[in-house]
Amino acid sequence: MFRPRRRGRSAGPAGSHSRVPISQIRRGVLHSALACGGSALPNEFGGFLRSEEPGIITDLLLIPGTSSGRRHANLQLWMLPSDFSAVGTVHSHPSGALFPSSADLQLFRNWGLRHIILGRPFGPRDWRAYNGVGEAVNLTVLEDGTGP
Ligand code: ZN
Repeated sequence: MFRPRRRGRSAGPAGSHSRVPISQIRRGVLHSALACGGSALPNEFGGFLRSEEPGIITDLLLIPGTSSGRRHANLQLWMLPSDFSAVGTVHSHPSGALFPSSADLQLFRNWGLRHIILGRPFGPRDWRAYNGVGEAVNLTVLEDGTGP
């Protein structure tokens, strides 16, 4: 079963950071997600993004069973514990397409502030970030250990 990793003080629910737009992501999060995308091939990989610092995506939450051979990663909102600072989703497209499908848009509109789509071949630039209405947004990649 999935157990969220805790570190430092509890950041509280996502709402506590809601005044700061999510505009940055730690390189380690991106790196792990891209690696997961590659190792999940030929299936999709899916997970959630967490923000424990205002405006920054700081953690990747892997959801077991999301790359089970379905055509689309099956991110289920009921998997989300109610008390952690999840701010969006990340999933891969083995096709390499970096734009959201209609199912993706439905999920984005339903929940979350930032969503990342990764595409084959999962190189450092094979990803794109979207907001809750499916518009591409800029995320600055922060080197690990550096502040905003
Ligand atoms: Zn998708």
